[in-house]
Formats: sequence, C-alpha cells, structure tokens
Amino acid sequence: MRLLFCGTRGSTPAPGRAHLRYGGHTSCIAIGRGAGPPALLLDGGTGLAQLDEHLAGEPFAGSILLSHLHWDHTHGLPFFGSGAAPGHRVEVFIPEQGDDAEAVLARAFSPPHFPIEPQQLGNGWRFRMLPEGERDIEGYSVLALEIPHKGGRTFGFRVSDETTSLAYLPDHHPLALGPGPIGIGELHPNALALARDVDLLIHDAQYLVEELPELAPMGHSCGEYAVSLAEAAGAREVCLYHHAPRRTDDALDELAGRFTESAVPTRMAFDGLVLTLADADRAGVTSAGH
Ligand SMILES: [Zn+2]
Ligand SMILES: [Zn+2]
Repeated sequence: MRLLFCGTRGSTPAPGRAHLRYGGHTSCIAIGRGAGPPALLLDGGTGLAQLDEHLAGEPFAGSILLSHLHWDHTHGLPFFGSGAAPGHRVEVFIPEQGDDAEAVLARAFSPPHFPIEPQQLGNGWRFRMLPEGERDIEGYSVLALEIPHKGGRTFGFRVSDETTSLAYLPDHHPLALGPGPIGIGELHPNALALARDVDLLIHDAQYLVEELPELAPMGHSCGEYAVSLAEAAGAREVCLYHHAPRRTDDALDELAGRFTESAVPTRMAFDGLVLTLADADRAGVTSAGH
C-alpha cells in the first residue's frame, strides 16, 4: 500500500511562512498500489486538490471515504480537478445517517452557502451512506467503526490489502468515554479493533497533552494517546496527524521531539509525505517526500 499525504491539518487550512515545511492543507490521504494511481481516498479536505498534480490530468476513478462531514474533511471536494476530468468516477461514502447521502452533503454544498450542489460536481459522482462494518471498496478491505468526536457521526477506518494494513482516526475524542488507563482517554473497543496489529496507525494529535484539560471538550486527542492506543493494539508504527492549524513548523518539530523514544515508533505527518507499507516480514514503513 502506498500513501500520499495530501493534507495533514485539522480544523481549518493553515497557510503562511511559519507552516511551509509541514504544510497547511486539511485532511486527505490518497491510497494506491505500487506506482499505480490512487483509487481510495481518506477524507476530502483542502488537500484533495493537491492530488491533481499527482494525477497529471488523468481522471480520478475511485472512492472517497469521509470520516465525517466537518468542513476540514469536505472542502476539497468541489476543487478536485481530476474528479471533474472526462472519464472520472467518484464514489463518496459518508457515515450512515438517514438514507440520502447527497441531501446530507447538500446542506453544506448548495446556495447560498456554496454556488453549486453535490450533483453538479460531475456526472460520474455518486453519494452513498456507509454503515459500520467491513466491506470491499476498490479492492481493499475497509472496516468502518464509529468513534467519539464532537458534532456529527464520525468513523475511524481500517484499510487492508493482501499484506498490509493501516488505521485512520483523524478526529478522535476518547476522553468522552472516560480517562482510560493513563488519564488521557479510554482505550475503547472500536479504537482497539481498528488499530489491532496494523502496520501504521494514523491518529489525531491536534492537542498537546498539557492542553487536554482545556481543549479536549472540542473533540480531539494528543499524541501520547495515539502511542498508548498503538501499544495496546499492537500497531507497529504511529503517524501523528490532524495538526492544530496554529501549530508552527518549529512547534511541530518540538512535538516530534517528544516522541523520539516512544514505546512505538512515531513519525509526524506533513503535506507531501509518501509512505509505503510493506508486510511485517519485510521493511515495514518506508518514506519519501519533501
Ligand atoms: Zn477534522
Ligand atoms: Zn471533526
């Protein structure tokens, strides 16, 4: 499995000189096989438009799994040029809520809030409700389970191919379920099931651990929780993701420094990061990117 991190911020885009190295686009990760074009996208934040350059004019054919419908996970959808190129096919899955996914999205994408409606994104766009559970999507096994966040149904995903797997929990508020074993959030069954023995856990690290008492009610978690979940679930590596929009490059470097000796190897997500997952008998996770 090959991952391209197109957007790694949470909440709102973060342009500016202090954010050049980690980037300022919001959540989107593209998944492909080897050198082939990506066919499975996790979230459609502003990072989604970064995929146009990667696809070099070719139409996108695949599925977008939306973890939930907050702006930072959907605002890239209308600006995805490859999703409008001739020959495109774009299946959008949203966490099940009612029976009309397009109508739910149209509450945010329609005049007067936005000039067009979802159906105007292109003839090849389809919108579907995704129930919890495991199913095949674009040749990957996808497990979707509800996780606590704030303000709207939110899923975490586990994506597996024949040899590798990842878990994706970009927005996660485990303190909502209790303090857990070390006081920073419950290691609850759905989080453990998603992260069980994965090669890579991509997890919300929007807050610093010392910010939790004040900020956790806003719906996110800290890197220390991500590592504790990885350790409990047997995940092989952690990627800290969904960075706070005001966290500067230097502050993110400082955050990275807190995890150099962590119980599970931990890396920072940044816009443009490319990771290749290899099966457990081989090299593990290898990286490239600027
Ligand atoms: Zn978010
Ligand atoms: Zn959110």
